[in-house]
Amino acid sequence: MKKAHRIRIYPNVRQQIQFQKTFGCVRFYWNFLLDQRITNYKMKKENADYQEDKTTYASLKKTDEYSWLKEVEAQPLSQVAMDLNKAYKNTFKSSFGFPKFKSKKYSKKSYRTAMGMKVNNNYFYVSKVGWVKMAETLRFNGKLMNVTISQAKSGKYFATFLVDTENFQKKPIDNTIGLDLGLTHFCIASTGEKIDNKKFYRSLEKRLIIEQRKLSKRLEVAKKHNRKLDECKNYQKQKLKVARIHEKISNQRNNFLHQLSSKLTDENQIICIEDLNVKGMVKNHKLAKSISDVSWSEFVRQLTYKCEWKGRTLIKVDRFFPSSQICSSCGHNDGKKELDVREWVCSQCGRVHDRDINASINIKTEGLSGIA
Ligand SMILES: [Zn+2]
Repeated sequence: MKKAHRIRIYPNVRQQIQFQKTFGCVRFYWNFLLDQRITNYKMKKENADYQEDKTTYASLKKTDEYSWLKEVEAQPLSQVAMDLNKAYKNTFKSSFGFPKFKSKKYSKKSYRTAMGMKVNNNYFYVSKVGWVKMAETLRFNGKLMNVTISQAKSGKYFATFLVDTENFQKKPIDNTIGLDLGLTHFCIASTGEKIDNKKFYRSLEKRLIIEQRKLSKRLEVAKKHNRKLDECKNYQKQKLKVARIHEKISNQRNNFLHQLSSKLTDENQIICIEDLNVKGMVKNHKLAKSISDVSWSEFVRQLTYKCEWKGRTLIKVDRFFPSSQICSSCGHNDGKKELDVREWVCSQCGRVHDRDINASINIKTEGLSGIA
């Protein structure tokens, strides 16, 4: 199974220059080969004896005119030749049509390489560039297939790693766990652990509100003076600021969810969760903030595919199962508990329950009973 992970990277100035050079060489070489093919085709049509021009990178770099090709890594260039061959073969199969020339202004700045790359925590290594800092560590274990370096329109650099995770299946283990979606915490485990969502949203929320308020003020000013928004520098600047906060929130949220779902699927053979109807719950305003905050459905999605990769089992317990009403000690159904009841005493056996821990234990018991 091949998995891709795209990570923001922070090349220093020298590395940025090297990336730019490689983007340029890759684009040049693509256009060079495409032009050569078209010319060869035309000439051959006119004269069947025409000797085809078969100049490649290896011979180009030896010429004075194109010696600058030596300054970049060779692998991305041979990759270009392969990509072009593929594009030719697919001309009639895919919707892309005949391969096109890449313009400096509009074509995507990227290149792919596979030779000699290494990853070490928050750094990765590519030839001629050296160790480059990454925003996060690589999510997958397995064999590194290749990496694509790219620059987005915003100017940010990214590395997309392709990892072969064929041997991703883990050895079966005995641990099982139940999880309950929390209101005070992201989720609560049957082990008694309460997992916080680090308040990623709320810590940034204040800043977001302030910056958004500024943005709407600038919008008002622009309207008042009948100015086009494209021309309002202050407005555009502020818009970017707000977008960056949104981006930060979503990155933090994703990192949190991935770390947690990886840890849980590493450490447990069976994971039992409640099959929540999140859409239905979001309609309830009091709950809406917490639930959309904690992105439960994205979390379940991650658990689902990570369980599949690792050979684990995810069990969804019916959402009408009264997990917060049953006493996990004696099995007595103690009746409905309002949301603000965080702790209760079983009227049958007298056991004091933390609402959420008790619920997650019930979810686990219920989930396991289905497969016993
Ligand atoms: Zn009880």
